[in-house]
Amino acid sequence: MTEIGFIGLGNMGFPMAHRLIDDGNNVIAFDTSSATLDRIVSLGARAASSAKDVADRAETVLASLPSPAVSLEVASGSVGVIAGSRVKRYVELSTVGSRAAVRIHDLLAGRAIAALDSPVSGGVGGSEKGTLALMVSGPRNEFDVIRPILEALGRPFYIGEKPGSAQTMKLANNILAANVLVATSEVVVMGVKAGLDPAVMVDVLNAGSGATSASRDKFPRAVLPRTFDYGFATGLMVKDVRLYLDEAKALGVPVDVAETIGRLWEVAALDQGADSDFTAVIKGFEKAAGVTVGGLDEGRTA
Ligand code: NAD
Repeated sequence: MTEIGFIGLGNMGFPMAHRLIDDGNNVIAFDTSSATLDRIVSLGARAASSAKDVADRAETVLASLPSPAVSLEVASGSVGVIAGSRVKRYVELSTVGSRAAVRIHDLLAGRAIAALDSPVSGGVGGSEKGTLALMVSGPRNEFDVIRPILEALGRPFYIGEKPGSAQTMKLANNILAANVLVATSEVVVMGVKAGLDPAVMVDVLNAGSGATSASRDKFPRAVLPRTFDYGFATGLMVKDVRLYLDEAKALGVPVDVAETIGRLWEVAALDQGADSDFTAVIKGFEKAAGVTVGGLDEGRTA
């Protein structure tokens, strides 16, 4: 059995680690939440006491963490991966942006630990089903080593050698996802105000040229039934939009659309709370329009 270290067992990390256990790997897990750690141990993982402990026991360490600051600490802090005796490669599954990725790469390079970025797309559902899109950057030979692990999680796309380039790809993906969720919310609220049935609207959009990842996945699963439980926090969306704006501004490219989208997400985080599910972003549009979209109590289903 191959030892694989896994740090950060949240909405995304937990099902990924679970898949790796089911795939026959010896998963050495760490999370600051002991309840979460107990849950993964009950599924067959072995508990570690710190990120360093994980890196003392596994050559390959994966991390799925909530912010660039946490990733930096986990990778290079005093009880971080950098201090581990066995680790050869660190794989960042989190979305941290290219600046943090380059910093982590440079710090780990000083200890001859290879850093690979592998941010993911596909949500909690993709994580559970093993259908994530994984965008990978780092040394090609190291990508070849971890490829079987990534293939248990979804479909890996090799972006290039340049540290952080997979993070840039991921931010490009997420700004579009951020964009179409607010755009679809605004449009469906308009239709409901005009008297249209939102479930019918979503069906028509999905059969027509207005289809988006929001109308296809997020509305049927979490907005129309009003469960708002898609599994991605509004605060994480704000993080990704800010990271995108940082990168785009550093490059000196136009950001007119992204800045407008960014303002809407900042307001959503203030109104709904950073821990709210990002599908709850529609509530601000509903409030401004004086309507409610969907809801099983109205006889509408996804
Ligand atoms: P999450 O907040 O659900 O999970 C983060 C986990 O990290 C938690 O279990 C937390 O206890 C743990 N943690 C925090 N600090 C830690 C530390 N110092 N050491 C060890 N564990 C620590 O977040 P998530 O939704 O799973 O997202 C993780 C990453 O994946 C983020 O970068 C996010 O942007 C990205 N992502 C999320 C989704 C999604 O749909 N949720 C999709 C694609 C990418």
